[in-house]
Amino acid sequence: MIRRTTALLALLLASPLVTAGERLPAVSYDTRGASAASLEALKRQVDAGFWLETGDALVVVAPPAVHARIGRRAKVDREHGLLSGDELFLLPMGCEVERHTIPNPIAVVGRHALVRMPPMLARQIADARAVQPDSVLAREHRPAPGAKRAPDPVIQSVVDRVDPARWFADLETLAGWNRSSYGSGTGGGGIDLARDWLVAQFEALGMSTTTPQVAVGASRPNNVIAVRPGTDLAGEWVLVGAHYDSRNPTNSSAGVANTPGAEDNASGCAGVVEMATVFAAVPTRRTLVFACYAGEEQGLLGSIAQAQAQALAASGDLSRIKLAVIMDMIGYSGDQDFDVLLESSGTPTQLAVLEQFAALATDYAPGTRAVIDTNPCCSDHMPWINGGIPALLTIENDWSQYVHYHQTSDLPQNITNAQAMGGRILRLNAAGIAVRAEVLAAAQFSDGFEPQGAAGDATTAAAQAAGDR
Ligand SMILES: [Zn+2]
Repeated sequence: MIRRTTALLALLLASPLVTAGERLPAVSYDTRGASAASLEALKRQVDAGFWLETGDALVVVAPPAVHARIGRRAKVDREHGLLSGDELFLLPMGCEVERHTIPNPIAVVGRHALVRMPPMLARQIADARAVQPDSVLAREHRPAPGAKRAPDPVIQSVVDRVDPARWFADLETLAGWNRSSYGSGTGGGGIDLARDWLVAQFEALGMSTTTPQVAVGASRPNNVIAVRPGTDLAGEWVLVGAHYDSRNPTNSSAGVANTPGAEDNASGCAGVVEMATVFAAVPTRRTLVFACYAGEEQGLLGSIAQAQAQALAASGDLSRIKLAVIMDMIGYSGDQDFDVLLESSGTPTQLAVLEQFAALATDYAPGTRAVIDTNPCCSDHMPWINGGIPALLTIENDWSQYVHYHQTSDLPQNITNAQAMGGRILRLNAAGIAVRAEVLAAAQFSDGFEPQGAAGDATTAAAQAAGDR
């Protein structure tokens, strides 16, 4: 499938477009930061042709007169020439379809590319999805003026514990090892050293930790699962996860000694460690499960999280998970527009998660622009979404512009604006975990917090077992 898609895209580059629909001028207008009212006003100008909302822009395919009107109200981002609606498709841009094989997309929509492609060709690509005229492909969270709520002092006190400098130091530590899953067990493979370091971090925080082995080709890297028991709802879990393996451009066992993966995904894994550090001293009613996954880069949909989800489903424990928060690439921003992508499916349950996190970004991570996408793909959130568990991916919205993605140059110093961007996503996630895991009153915080009573002990064993399966 991977090779076939790539070959077809190469064919696309070489072949003239032949489609039936009427071609009209297509222009992307920058709608970042616009109010909901002004965005709707722009859409009303499109009385011929159609519009597509992408989260960053409004793509308008319409006669010149329409563009003349819109151009007076909005800044042109890019012009795309003549397009018709039936030649527009969304293609996933995650791990299985390298962004480099998708030339010059019309727009990046979450983790998908909006591309122009002959319908005959698109029909041969299983992942290609047609787009409907006048549709929202992804959207910016646009709170009404004055919608920012007074922060809850308890949530705020949790958020204030986030330390972006500490997180970045952990990121640098992890990026110091070549963490290819193919390097496990081959004599000092970096991923095994990273595993040992992760275990030490969690254990230093007083958390019990397991390291179930997973199969990646001939290698047997480990997941690292740590548990911090809840109080009276300890049988219900909030999972905080990220993959800690990294990969090279060819995703092969060759070149495993050159895979620093600072942004993808030391950033997310260090984020899991930071959340564990924050919540080690902050009791919550629900149990927190911290998961660092190996083998993500070799699985089409995060195979290792998939394995954990399937094992939990088989044991009947899957429904214990009340929320899965996944971090994959959280530290890069190409500019001072600090935009986070919140991604899940569009079911009412998942939409509620996305809306809640977007509102928390407004309240607890000031200066963050949240983009909501309900067409998820390509990371460790997928197995939880597919299992019907409330779950979301938090990722910087500029990820597709990070030129060091899957390159040997994915180094800490190349992550532009790391602490400003990563700090915002960490504050947002600290708030989301505090709310969803039901943080106790601030008076009960203590840096030596230990769970009291049998409830915590009984469910520790179950949560522990979740890692072993
Ligand atoms: Zn990743």
